[in-house]
Amino acid sequence: SHRIRVAIAGYGNLGRGVEAALAQNPDMRLVGVFSRREPSSVKLLDSSTPVYAMADIEQYQDDVDVMILCGGSKSDLPEQGPYLAKFFNTVDSFDTHAKVPEYYEALDQSARDAGRVAMLSVGWDPGLFSLNRLYGEAILPEGETYTFWGKGLSQGHSDAVRRVPGVQSAVQYTLPSENAMARVRAGEQPELSTREKHTRECFVVLAEGADADVVRESIVSMPDYFADYDTVVNFIDQETFKTEHSSMPHGGFVIRSGNTGVNTKQTIEYSLALGSNPEFTSSVLVAYARAVHRLARLNDIGAKTVFDIAPGLLSPKSPAQLRKELL
Ligand code: NDP
Repeated sequence: SHRIRVAIAGYGNLGRGVEAALAQNPDMRLVGVFSRREPSSVKLLDSSTPVYAMADIEQYQDDVDVMILCGGSKSDLPEQGPYLAKFFNTVDSFDTHAKVPEYYEALDQSARDAGRVAMLSVGWDPGLFSLNRLYGEAILPEGETYTFWGKGLSQGHSDAVRRVPGVQSAVQYTLPSENAMARVRAGEQPELSTREKHTRECFVVLAEGADADVVRESIVSMPDYFADYDTVVNFIDQETFKTEHSSMPHGGFVIRSGNTGVNTKQTIEYSLALGSNPEFTSSVLVAYARAVHRLARLNDIGAKTVFDIAPGLLSPKSPAQLRKELL
């Protein structure tokens, strides 16, 4: 078969999402999943796909065209990325924005030495949002770029609420401020503070005997997480929590507000409304895995970001087919 042979390194939310996304792309096939956990304890969506020990991964370098790295950005990828780029063409979703230059250098070194392609920071932000920020700036050099996030579940903020005494279960959603969005869309090019751009909404199940007012006050006054935002705290029961707040929605907007000519207003807006953040991010990873495979076939090497990839490389269709159908 000429299908692209893909493997997954690390099987959490993203790993599961990549497995599901590969099933929608007939030009690719999943040859295996690698995990640091005992392989028999890792349960895939399709149990006929083999799970291997991460410790044995080097043995599979001739069996995999692209390795999709699904580890966490905080401590997994900084280690796994440069190591795996010695043996595989890779793609990952590294999202610690401030550490991208450092991580890029480490991957580039490793991938060049091995003659591999290592693609970093693929997903929606960084990823598709980054591309749209670039298009906005390049096309409308005079203007401002705005990124709004939400409505989205924030893992870090949800954890912080769960640590408040008296809280049994909790989720936190970040929402773009309607007022700020309206001003940006109207071409005002306002200067917006953090507080003005987003609001925060919490859904909390109280522990038995906890005082709602005390819990609310501890949340909204929490430094770093909530004190600088307008925060709404809603109290719900465990059943509602389970049925209405167990998916991982996210999304947002990238808006470029610019001027051309004498003072003509021009606005570019890109938005995502995601039912599941990890499933969507995984779908982006899979499309870019195809591009990585093609670059590797052309003997390209080194670290790559979304800025380096021609759009046609993402599509299973041929350049001629794309010109005919989509241009
Ligand atoms: P998870 O925490 O679900 O998984 C991370 C790793 O943890 C896995 O690779 C897995 O490694 C291990 N793991 C998973 N489940 C378990 C378990 N039950 N017990 C022990 N270990 C487990 O993270 P996500 O998949 O949700 O996210 C991964 C990264 O993706 C995030 O850190 C984030 O930075 C990035 N991301 C990027 C986005 C973007 O737009 N660029 C958007 C969303 C996320 P192993 O199998 O080896 O044990």
